[in-house]
Amino acid sequence: MTSALPRPSAIVIGAGPAGLMAAEQIAAAGFAVTVYDGMPSPARKFLMAGRGGLNLTHSEDFSRFVQRYGEASTRLSVILDAFPPETLRRWSAELGEETFVGSSGRVFPRSFKASPLLRAWLRRLEASGVTIRPRHRFEGFTEKGAPIVRDQAGEIVAHDAQVCVLALGGASWPRLGSDGAWVDMLRARGLDVASLAPSNCGFDVAWTKVFSSRFAGAPLKPVALSFEGETVRGEATITADGLEGGAVYALSARLREAIAAQGPCVIHADLRPDVGADVLAARLSRPRAGQSASTFLRKAAGLQPVAVALLRDVSRVLPDNADALAQLIKAAPVRLLSPRPIARAISSAGGVRWSELDDGLMLKRMPGVFVCGEMIDWEAPTGGYLLQGCFATGVVAGQAAATRLAALAG
Ligand SMILES: Cc1cc2nc3c(=O)[nH]c(=O)nc-3n(C[C@H](O)[C@H](O)[C@H](O)COP(=O)(O)OP(=O)(O)OC[C@H]3O[C@@H](n4cnc5c(N)ncnc54)[C@H](O)[C@@H]3O)c2cc1C
Repeated sequence: MTSALPRPSAIVIGAGPAGLMAAEQIAAAGFAVTVYDGMPSPARKFLMAGRGGLNLTHSEDFSRFVQRYGEASTRLSVILDAFPPETLRRWSAELGEETFVGSSGRVFPRSFKASPLLRAWLRRLEASGVTIRPRHRFEGFTEKGAPIVRDQAGEIVAHDAQVCVLALGGASWPRLGSDGAWVDMLRARGLDVASLAPSNCGFDVAWTKVFSSRFAGAPLKPVALSFEGETVRGEATITADGLEGGAVYALSARLREAIAAQGPCVIHADLRPDVGADVLAARLSRPRAGQSASTFLRKAAGLQPVAVALLRDVSRVLPDNADALAQLIKAAPVRLLSPRPIARAISSAGGVRWSELDDGLMLKRMPGVFVCGEMIDWEAPTGGYLLQGCFATGVVAGQAAATRLAALAG
C-alpha cells in the first residue's frame, strides 16, 4: 500500500506587507505556508506607516504612476499591472477598510490607520491556513542552499519547504525589524545585490548654531525646492542638523546620487512660491519706515520668521537692493552636505538586482527562492508608491511560488 505524498509546502521569511501578501497568494492556491519574522509581532513598519495616515497607493493615471519607479519601472510595470492600485483598494475594502482619495491624489483607508486593516488581514490569513511564527530570525543558507531560520532559544528550525519567499525589507528604521543584514547573506551566495542606501531621506546642512537652536522643528510651508531643473513644491522641516520633509524626500534620489558623485550640492528654496519675483521686488522697494530688516521682510514679503532667519543663515549679509532680495527669496541657496543615515530614512534604495530575478521574482541562481518588497532594487517617492510596490511584488512572487508548488505536487 502506498501512502499519499505530503503536499509540498512553503515558507515566507519577513512578515511585512510584501511577505504577508506573498503568503496570502500561496495559501489561496491551497498550500501550507509558514511565515517567520525576527520581531515579536508582524508588520511593525506597516503599523508605523499608519501613524502618518497610511498612504496605501496613489490614484493618478497608471502610465504616470508607473514612471514614479524610475529605472525600475521597466520591470515593475508588468508587476504593477498584475496588482494595480484599484485592485489594492478593492483588497483593502474586502478587509473592511474602504479607501478614499485625498486632495493630492493619494489614497488612504478611511480610518487613516494601519492597525484595523492589519488585524483583519491577520485574521483572514490565519483562517486560510497561514501560520505566523514571530521571533524567528533568518541567518542565511546552508551549503545546499536551504534557508537557516533560528528560533528565540537559538535552535535552528528544520524545515523541508520546497519554496521559500524572502521578504526581508530594506534597512531604514531598523528597530522595526528590517536591518539589511540579509545583504551579506545573499552576496555570500554569489548574488548581485546593490548596496542599500537611504531613500526618501533628509540631508545634513551646516546651519549656524543660532539658527538651528531656534528653528529646529520649524516647517517651511509652502516651499518649492529646486535641483538641476526639477522643482518640487511641498513642505520641508528644519532639523538641528539639516532639512527633511516631503519636498526634500521627493528630490532625495537625485540629490543622493549627485552628492555621491560630486560631494555637497546646492538646492534652491523658493520661500514664496505663490508670489512672482516682480511682485516681491515691487513690495520690497517700498520705504522701510524705520522697521528692522526682519520686520520689513516679514511684512513686505509675507515671510515666516523661520524663512527670514533662513535667508540670513544662507546669505550672511542680506542684499539691500529690492530685486536682489526678491531673487534671494525666490531661490535661497541651501548647501546639502550628505544624506542622513539610512536608519533615519523612510525607505531604502538598492537591493537584489533585477538581473538576478526571473519574471516571477525567483532567484535564477537559487531555484525555489523568491524575493519581494523593498529588498529588490527599486525606489520610489512617498505618495503610496512604496506600499503599492511591496504589495504588487508580494502578489507576483507568491503566485509564482504557488505555481512552482503546484508543479511539484504534480
Ligand atoms: C515612518 C515610515 C512611514 C511610512 N509611510 C508610508 C506610507 O504612508 N506609504 C507607503 O507607501 N510607504 C510608507 N512607508 C514605507 C513602507 O512602510 C515600506 O516600504 C514597507 O513596509 C516595506 O515592506 P516590506 O514588506 O518590503 O518590508 P518591511 O515592512 O520592512 O518588512 C520586513 C520584515 O522582515 C523582517 N526581517 C528582516 N530581517 C529579518 C531576518 N534576518 N530574520 C527574520 N525577519 C527579518 C522584519 O522584522 C520585517 O517584519 C513608510 C516607512 C516608514 C519608516
